[in-house]
Amino acid sequence: MGVLSGGQHAARLRLLRRFAGPVPRWYPDARPVAGFISRIRGIAWRAADLVAGFGELLLSTATALPRDAPCPLVSARQLAWGVRYRPSPSDAHVTLRLPVSRRLARRTWMCLPGLASPGTVIAEVPSTAPPLEQQIWRGIHEGAHLDHLTSLARRGPLAPSPGEFGAGLLIAESYAMAVEILAAVECVLAGEGHAVWQLAAGLIERATRLPGGAHPAAEFADLPTLAEVYLLGPIEILADGAAAAALPEELISSLRDRWRAACAAYPPAAAFGSAAAHLIGRSTRP
Ligand SMILES: [Zn+2]
Repeated sequence: MGVLSGGQHAARLRLLRRFAGPVPRWYPDARPVAGFISRIRGIAWRAADLVAGFGELLLSTATALPRDAPCPLVSARQLAWGVRYRPSPSDAHVTLRLPVSRRLARRTWMCLPGLASPGTVIAEVPSTAPPLEQQIWRGIHEGAHLDHLTSLARRGPLAPSPGEFGAGLLIAESYAMAVEILAAVECVLAGEGHAVWQLAAGLIERATRLPGGAHPAAEFADLPTLAEVYLLGPIEILADGAAAAALPEELISSLRDRWRAACAAYPPAAAFGSAAAHLIGRSTRP
């Protein structure tokens, strides 16, 4: 059975779909999503506490570090800055300009048909977010998504990629968040105080925006599983849980090596890693 109504998400997608002509009659409508919406699980609240606590520690660490000026608002410059903090950086993507806001576009990374392999694309979209925030989104988080799509494309080009939707998207967000946490530690070690501050703020934002949290985000009100994965996913990956096993071997092995080195150089990261492993282990008990 197809999706009949998609609430706020269908409203946004209908606006986007209009760029390709009249919205088809079968397209999901914007009535509220009907039916039961699951609550955030206990383990996700514990993951939120752990991630927010690490974010707070990083915020206070950032105050003692030098602060560089943010990158210019150019996608290529932001991605180039992020290369040193991403364990499997790729650079084969195509950049497209999209005449829609970041809010309307929502996801700016994808694979498109008709391009040379790996077929990865990043969209440049107008945004009013502060330059440093955009630098972290593009250079670290979305950069990690491109790295993941590129790695998946080595198994054979697909558009859309399995990393863009459904269970594959949950793995993609888990990986991007694990790379964010690694980058926050590596930026401490590199003395990039501004980036540490922004990455830490991003971790706290993901922890507090859960439905029922201190600062719930409207867009996740009916997407609890997706909201949870930004917290539980990176914990599972860094603690070698199920999400780690779902990643291509080349991605997980370079991430593992870099995380191990980061933990050796920055003891609070090792403490976070142990707490993460403990949380995942505890989750298997009834
Ligand atoms: Zn993402």
